[in-house]
Amino acid sequence: MANVLENAISLVQKTADILNFNKRFQGQEIMERLRIPDKVIMFRASVQLDRGGLKVFNCYRIQHSDVLGCYKGGIRFHPDVDLDEVKALALWMTLKTALVGIPYGGAKGGITVDPKTLSITELERLVRKYTSRLVNDIGPNIDIPAPDMGTGAREMAWIYDEYRKYRDVARGVVTGKPIALGGSLGRKEATGRGVVCTMLEAVKDLGLKNYTVGVQGFGNVGSHAALDCFERGLKVVAIQDITGGACNPEGLNVPEMVKYRDQTGGIEGFPGGKPLADNIVSYPCDVFLPCAKENTITEENAANVKAKLIVEGANGPTTPEADKILESRKVVVVPDILANAGGVIVSYFEWVQNREGFYWEEEDVNTRLFNRLRKAYASVKEMAVAKKVSLRQAAYCIALEKIVQAMIARGVQ
Ligand code: GLU
Repeated sequence: MANVLENAISLVQKTADILNFNKRFQGQEIMERLRIPDKVIMFRASVQLDRGGLKVFNCYRIQHSDVLGCYKGGIRFHPDVDLDEVKALALWMTLKTALVGIPYGGAKGGITVDPKTLSITELERLVRKYTSRLVNDIGPNIDIPAPDMGTGAREMAWIYDEYRKYRDVARGVVTGKPIALGGSLGRKEATGRGVVCTMLEAVKDLGLKNYTVGVQGFGNVGSHAALDCFERGLKVVAIQDITGGACNPEGLNVPEMVKYRDQTGGIEGFPGGKPLADNIVSYPCDVFLPCAKENTITEENAANVKAKLIVEGANGPTTPEADKILESRKVVVVPDILANAGGVIVSYFEWVQNREGFYWEEEDVNTRLFNRLRKAYASVKEMAVAKKVSLRQAAYCIALEKIVQAMIARGVQ
């Protein structure tokens, strides 16, 4: 399995070469400052189990860069979480926030845990322990966590509540909170909606008509992206999650699938379609939305992709080898740091609302979200055309130029 951190860094290095950082900023050690995170926090948390005894967990928070603002990024609960993965995800946050022009740097947290194996009380103890250990490192003007895979509004509420035991009441210490605690309308749906917004821009560019959509992953991102497509009258012909998949050339009833998943815990056996035997990556659809995990489109399966357009709802779903194959086959890829930036954009809106103490209508949230994403898409597209590079390479160029300009402006003393 390709190492996500090495992949991410090698693309940063390639971009630094294209942008000529070495020559333009001689002696500034730009690449080292991008490669090595500002701060790596790693610790062990022991949690008391309901039935007695303890379980020990590896916990991480990586603060990659605060050149453009305070650290920002989600917290992932997954059995595969390790140091390199969290470092890569933190670096991507720095690039993402820079690309879409919100005043943050990048960070990411994680715990190596399968949250389904813990009871709610055990999970709450784990989240509270994690938060109390990080109380000096997070804060509304320092580092602002948010949901990621395996976490959601419930976990953010516990972080908020734990933090206030040690510090002032500060709604902006965490985003993706429940609405009752100062969360923003539209935050939960934002990443999925953003995926669809950038998809629609790319569809226009490609001139696709009557196209079909396939979705990999049916968690927060995948399910909201699929729902948004469904509500727009688009045909979602295949969906796969960790439990299984379903396909229907006439289009799946996505709201029914959400209900089914909520009742059964997954989409396997969904009665509104045929079971999907193979990997969805090779399913015949015009647009493919990978919204699950890293490294799902690989050297092994990239040649089988039938889609003309891929919009990356997940972080890092396409390996660099797969990227090359897709590029040679003229499959257009809207890269993760653009396509899935909707989540952190609305996190930013939540933080602004918390600071203002004034709360917006969902319509305002969505309009502002779409405007920002369309603008970011247009700038990426323009750069890709000007430099004759992929959308991913263009997005990295824009983000890194902004970060490095700010680095230089700040000085080194
Ligand atoms: N975890 C999400 C991401 O990867 C959201 C981060 C945030 O809202 O801070 O972009």
